[in-house]
Amino acid sequence: MAPVIVPVQTSPDFPEKTTVVVIGGGIVGLTAALTLAERGVPVVVLEKGRIAAEQSSRNLGWIRKTSRDKVDVPLALASDALWAEMPKRTGTDVGYRQAGIMYVARTDDEMAGHERWIKSVEGLSLDSRLLSPAEIARLAPGGRGTWVGGIYTASDGRAEPTLVSSAIASAAIARGAVIVEQCAVRTLSMAAGRIAGVVTERGEIRCEQVLLAGGLWSRRFLGNLGVALPTLPLVASVFRTSPMDGPTDIAVGGPDFSFRKRLDGGYTITQRGALFAPLTLDHLLIGHKYLPTLIAQWKNVRISVGRDLVRDLSLGRRWTASDRSPFENTRIMDPPVIPALNAEAQHNLEAAWPVFKGAVVRQSWAGMIDVTPDSMPVISPVTKIPGLTLASGFSGHGFGTSPAAGQLAADLVTASTPILDPSPYSLDRFTG
Ligand SMILES: Cc1cc2nc3c(=O)[nH]c(=O)nc-3n(C[C@H](O)[C@H](O)[C@H](O)COP(=O)(O)OP(=O)(O)OC[C@H]3O[C@@H](n4cnc5c(N)ncnc54)[C@H](O)[C@@H]3O)c2cc1C
Repeated sequence: MAPVIVPVQTSPDFPEKTTVVVIGGGIVGLTAALTLAERGVPVVVLEKGRIAAEQSSRNLGWIRKTSRDKVDVPLALASDALWAEMPKRTGTDVGYRQAGIMYVARTDDEMAGHERWIKSVEGLSLDSRLLSPAEIARLAPGGRGTWVGGIYTASDGRAEPTLVSSAIASAAIARGAVIVEQCAVRTLSMAAGRIAGVVTERGEIRCEQVLLAGGLWSRRFLGNLGVALPTLPLVASVFRTSPMDGPTDIAVGGPDFSFRKRLDGGYTITQRGALFAPLTLDHLLIGHKYLPTLIAQWKNVRISVGRDLVRDLSLGRRWTASDRSPFENTRIMDPPVIPALNAEAQHNLEAAWPVFKGAVVRQSWAGMIDVTPDSMPVISPVTKIPGLTLASGFSGHGFGTSPAAGQLAADLVTASTPILDPSPYSLDRFTG
């Protein structure tokens, strides 16, 4: 069962025109819309299903700088400052707590990875530090795991995915943004070589700019327009427990489990490092671009061949504005839970922190992630289509950086001074 988000009263009306259309009501599109609305820019968000019903409500809620690519750290730092402002900005406690994140290493090889990362971010003034086994025992008592060491960043944090997007959407609506659910955008309409609007299943909306924040669907949307965005789908499986006395408030990532304290007193748990790749046509078309990352980082990707390939092929890759689009055929991407992965996570966690043997599992779900070849998002104008900006490909770590990512996207749309240098996020890095 998918996590249930706090309901938001979205618009029953369908506007004829606006200044900016945002395609996709995930946390990135909603944050961009809030930023635009705060600046007085008329904005309409169009969501094919329900806001935040895909990745943005299914994630683990980790907000981390630890182990992030060095060039991605400024986005995370800018986001930390924006997370701190979130209660004031939205009028809601979205569960943001700087409770820290810690990774524990079982082997010297894993520890060497943490040491390399700490070295790579020297000069960025992060509070990350390496841990001894004794410090791990002090920070998360009651453990039985054999750790050679770990890494800890006290200023990393967490927030509640089922609260945040709703709070942002409500704040955006209060400032004049219009959010329409159950409204898939089929394609763009063009005039004089630039964007003139979007064509939806309910008709056309005229606009000057479009922000595509469609998560794992952006690749298909752009492909139909002749623009290549390399992203592949990967599935992660998750469960949560009832409220319980756990070992620590710090979010902990082990080699084959992770746990994170929730605002409701329970824990969100996953088999960290084990991802599921449901084979699709895209794996065959662009899978080779991912080989270096696969070898270096995703030692535990399990490939499944089956009905996902058939489903993917049946969705179609080319359509016109008058055709029913793939987005209307999958309102919400709700991949099935992978019981084997959840059972492994539970088993591994119980061995490491036996207090979890008493955990009561309340809910399980899975989510599909959009991963780029370098695991960095694209936040960038699409030069081939004047008037189109893209913010997608967050590669399984876009919840934490969404405040600054959404703001950066809004900056690019309005040609304002960007919150930070957007060049690492350019789409052109994949096309040369
Ligand atoms: C299981 C799991 C665990 C994760 N854990 C973490 C974590 O701990 N920390 C972290 O930082 N990140 C995490 N992530 C990643 C994070 O959730 C995502 O990076 C982030 O939510 C991406 O937000 P988004 O708005 O880009 O995409 P989404 O939330 O997927 O939103 C995109 C929206 O666009 C809509 N859409 C697409 N095409 C169209 C169209 N044509 N017309 C209308 N609507 C359209 C979709 O319906 C969807 O609602 C995790 C992800 C998963 C799945």
